[in-house]
Amino acid sequence: VTSTANGKTYVIGTDTTFAPFEFRDTSGEMTGIDMDLIRAIGKDQGFNVEIRSLGFNAALQALSSNQVDGVIAGMSITDERKKIYDFSEPYFESGVQMAVAANDDTVKSYEDLKGKTVVAKTGAEGETFAKSIADKYGFTVQSLDQSATMYESVKSGNAVAVFDDYPVLAYGIAQGNGLKTVTDKEAGGSYGFAVNKGKNPELLAAFNDGLAKLKANGEYQKILDKYLAAPK
Ligand code: GLN
Repeated sequence: VTSTANGKTYVIGTDTTFAPFEFRDTSGEMTGIDMDLIRAIGKDQGFNVEIRSLGFNAALQALSSNQVDGVIAGMSITDERKKIYDFSEPYFESGVQMAVAANDDTVKSYEDLKGKTVVAKTGAEGETFAKSIADKYGFTVQSLDQSATMYESVKSGNAVAVFDDYPVLAYGIAQGNGLKTVTDKEAGGSYGFAVNKGKNPELLAAFNDGLAKLKANGEYQKILDKYLAAPK
């Protein structure tokens, strides 16, 4: 498909705080891997982006109702979602993991969640996973809209654990957010850029073309290194 995205401005929905993929820098600008990626691809392909930091579930709803042209939000490519959205090529491998408060020595496995409450993000893979094992291990899942609120909830003791994407948990933990992981990662989908099914095919084609170019010329790796290279 030839890209006809030239010169257009696309409205792109994203999460609020999902570092290192999207978050606000000290001056209040949306930054992170997803933000750098979509801007670099726009630059390469000749389109502009207007970022809307809506929250994950809200961004997906906005995409479904065509209020945004695309979503980049650490959004996993899943079979369920493929029924209603069209995805780009995958650009980052991810999955779900559990985290608990750093000073918690009572929860070391899913078995220890019996009778307790855990938090996960509304509409996210972490929520789907937590719900899928909730009956087996006898815990309750409370859904919240933002990762930051989820982590606060665990630190304040309102919930004993959070299920979220492991690169995001790892980044936060490395920055001393007061959480720790005690169980293995669970397999999950890779991240993709999404448009509404059948909509903006030229934008999707431009994203894929731009992504391939950024991978080939090393800029994709530079973006990852900017946020993920150790030591911080
Ligand atoms: N990768 C997860 C999903 O797509 C979570 C994304 C997010 O919280 N921004 O469900």
